[in-house]
Amino acid sequence: MKKNFLSTLKTPFFYYIESYGCHMNTSDTEIIISILSKNGFLLTNNLKKAHIILLNTCAIRKKAELSIEKRLDNLRYLKSNNQKIPLFGILGCLSKSEKYSNLIDFSIGPNSYRKIPDIIRLVMMNDEKKIKIHFYYLIIKMKHMKILVPIHNKKKITTFLSITRGCDNMCTFCIVPFTRGRERSSSPYSIIKECENLYEKGYKEVTLLGQNVDSYLWFGGGLKKKIKIDNSNEKIIDFSRLLDLLASKIPFMRIRFSTSNPHDMSDRVIEVISKHSNICKHIHLPVQSGSNKILKLMNRKYTIEKYLSLIQKIRSIVPECSISHDIITGFCNEEEEDHLETISLMNKVKYDYGYMFSYSPRPGTYAYKKLKDNVPENVKKRRLKEIIDLQRIHSIFRMKKYLGTIQEVLIEGKSKKNNQDWYGRNTQNIVVVFPKKLSKIGETVFVKITNCTSATLIGKIDDNENK
Ligand code: SF4
Repeated sequence: MKKNFLSTLKTPFFYYIESYGCHMNTSDTEIIISILSKNGFLLTNNLKKAHIILLNTCAIRKKAELSIEKRLDNLRYLKSNNQKIPLFGILGCLSKSEKYSNLIDFSIGPNSYRKIPDIIRLVMMNDEKKIKIHFYYLIIKMKHMKILVPIHNKKKITTFLSITRGCDNMCTFCIVPFTRGRERSSSPYSIIKECENLYEKGYKEVTLLGQNVDSYLWFGGGLKKKIKIDNSNEKIIDFSRLLDLLASKIPFMRIRFSTSNPHDMSDRVIEVISKHSNICKHIHLPVQSGSNKILKLMNRKYTIEKYLSLIQKIRSIVPECSISHDIITGFCNEEEEDHLETISLMNKVKYDYGYMFSYSPRPGTYAYKKLKDNVPENVKKRRLKEIIDLQRIHSIFRMKKYLGTIQEVLIEGKSKKNNQDWYGRNTQNIVVVFPKKLSKIGETVFVKITNCTSATLIGKIDDNENK
């Protein structure tokens, strides 16, 4: 009788994982690690020791996709002579792609991570041929999702927690609604319980994640039995209420969130940020373009006038709040005057920092199918350079305002440049670097800012404030 392939392998099985893309993917990678650990698989950093190699991929930009293609080509040597091990698995948003089919043994989409151990075992047991499994839409129809909780093996101070998955917004350039599915919100009960657990384990900061946190909505009811809240008749919890509940229940934990959507952000959210000192004063508010014509083509559901009035509201209610952005330059039909409108918007807002990209059409999106990618590459490149240069000027302008001030900084780790320095972040999410003195990772210290670059504040611990 033919031997099962699985029985020929020595256990335990080691796996190696790499993560690409956004915070959501980083958080998903931690979830995947926790699911595999619970199922007896062991994480290794040694590629050659791994029975399973996993790449958690991102499809949001062509650049990310190209870097994964390149990485797979580099790893191809590990699977010479048609051997079965290591198994290659593509996870995340690129798992639908057929491009890598000669190397990949299985692919699993972002909605099916709970199935990873079963799928790996299934693939291992089959020694006849490779198995391709796309469990893409397995749990996509769930009205609310059960929270997937990472177990963190490494002692860390800050972490991420997804409160929603998927997105309903259908921005015409974006692949997320197709790869991650419709939007689902976790129950406030599981979010609060998990944040309390994280705090008890020693975490000092949690970032609540969602493609659009402002559209978080729970209408599952039954809360009053599980959480003691001020108003026991509450049946509907929106994002402002979730933030309010979390900040009151875990007053010594820092709370951040990302990403906000200008269309959905309510005044109540801004008021709650101002009310609680443990909610960090930073909002990532992608605008994508400064032109109403382009926003319409992108199916972004706000105008620049509304966006600016939101910024004004944030700054009047939470004056110390930092604001960052995402901008895509060179989208379909973007003319020079649209680009100048983006520049004008940036000059009005003077963002603290931002993420800027030139447009690359993503297969499957509305823009890919229906709009012409008609801005020449050299024009995209030039416009991108112009907005990056401008952002640098604005970042320096904002950073200089911190000179001479005292910043409350949560120490996260050793500075990459100097072993004798710590790095941490202030409430505005700005990195601060300073000599260690007697402080420890996880402590919050007061740092006097003496210098800055466009992305980092430099200072020293203020002994008077830290007494
Ligand atoms: S809000 Fe728009 S850009 Fe953001 S994930 Fe949803 S569809 Fe994509």
